Amino acid sequence: MRVTTEQDRCVGSGQCAMLSPEVFDQDDAGLVVVLQQEPGEDLRAGVLQAVDLCPSRSLHVEG
Ligand code: SF4
Repeated sequence: MRVTTEQDRCVGSGQCAMLSPEVFDQDDAGLVVVLQQEPGEDLRAGVLQAVDLCPSRSLHVEG
């Protein structure tokens, strides 16, 4: 699983960092930061939830 983001679309709502704190964080401006670009399978459920609930559709996964 590979995680990518479009930080220019992020609106800083924070769902991703709340739902999958091992993989997503927010910078000082509140914009998404990816902590792990290739998280393990144990983190898949949280990442997929974050992708689904991101209001700006900024998060993407492959694989
Ligand atoms: S859930 Fe989406 S909009 Fe909110 S901080 Fe994360 S990437 Fe940005």
